Amino acid sequence: MATAMGKRLEGKTVVITGASSGIGKSTAQEFARTAPKNLKLILTARRIDTLKQIAAEINKEVGEGVKVLPVQLDVSNASEVRSFVQNLPKEFQEIDVLVNNAGLVKGVDKVGDIKEEDVEVMMATNVTGLIYMTQAVLPHMKSRGEAGAGDIINVGSIAGREPYVGGSIYCATKAAVRSFTDSMRKELIATRIRVIEIDPGQVETEFSVVRFGGDKAKADAVYKGCEPLTPEDIAEVVVFTAGRRENVVVADTLIFPNHQVSLLLEYTRRHITDLPRRLLLSCTRSRRACSDAWTGLRDYHAQEAFEYFQIVDNTSFLHKTTSEDLRHRISQVHSTPV
Ligand code: NAP
Repeated sequence: MATAMGKRLEGKTVVITGASSGIGKSTAQEFARTAPKNLKLILTARRIDTLKQIAAEINKEVGEGVKVLPVQLDVSNASEVRSFVQNLPKEFQEIDVLVNNAGLVKGVDKVGDIKEEDVEVMMATNVTGLIYMTQAVLPHMKSRGEAGAGDIINVGSIAGREPYVGGSIYCATKAAVRSFTDSMRKELIATRIRVIEIDPGQVETEFSVVRFGGDKAKADAVYKGCEPLTPEDIAEVVVFTAGRRENVVVADTLIFPNHQVSLLLEYTRRHITDLPRRLLLSCTRSRRACSDAWTGLRDYHAQEAFEYFQIVDNTSFLHKTTSEDLRHRISQVHSTPV
């Protein structure tokens, strides 16, 4: 029997960008599982063969109640996006849900050393691509009924809220997604169109493999010692937001694995048992408090503080910092403003 959410989604047409991998692929599967009797899914990405394979897998799993249309689309190509809706078969043109998920990160270079091509591809995919897609679909949503109808679900990132070293461009793109999304929600207040932002924390997908130019060992190192989210964890939230009653707008979400708030605490609990509780708690509160805690850790246990930094670094993608850098940073903690 269909759940209330399944019933609300029945008959809808959903477009997902970046559906060939990770969060986008899982989102397609989750929509199909939630409304298997009657749903239309348009899966887009550049890798069309992968999309076709995913479409076949979905139909094998849930049956033919879900119509899946794989479409090759590069969101950074303005003319491809402009003609996207009109080129869809008629029965797929009434789009109810747009999931703007396509996105990527390239490299960990710091400002001054960032390759122009990396800047361009991140901006063109994560920002302008998302804007082009929205502009291509929104007029159709606005023209529906008296006050328009539809959902625009933008995948941002925790990086749009908490910029980190080596991620300036990616973080800036996701901050841009956030501002764009917030403006649009305000602009559409008089319509029935819902504007939703999903901000994942660390999720294990092809994301880091792309960041490191296909170097799987480097990508795996990002998740070493952590338990990242799975793409299914985010897909469930995306589908949940689209499956609310029409009057309910889940405007904003931030979803991260436990270690992104409490790995420091957990690690310290396990390894530095005699540390004052005050310090442990302060680690989770603010960067300032965290800095104080690092200082405290250094004073209590130099070696543990050293390992602790490695965990911090792992969490913030700086795990490639050398031991010397870490020692230097520990010695600087007192004098470094946070
Ligand atoms: P992923 O597994 O690498 O998937 C990225 C998807 O984007 C792929 O399907 C890729 O497909 C597509 N894509 C890339 N460039 C594209 C383009 N120009 N046109 C169309 N599609 C394009 O990574 P993911 O983690 O699922 O990422 C999905 C979204 O989540 C991104 O916006 C990312 O920034 C965001 N996010 C990820 C994390 C994380 O930790 N993984 C955290 C926060 C936010 P093709 O290569 O086939 O085109």
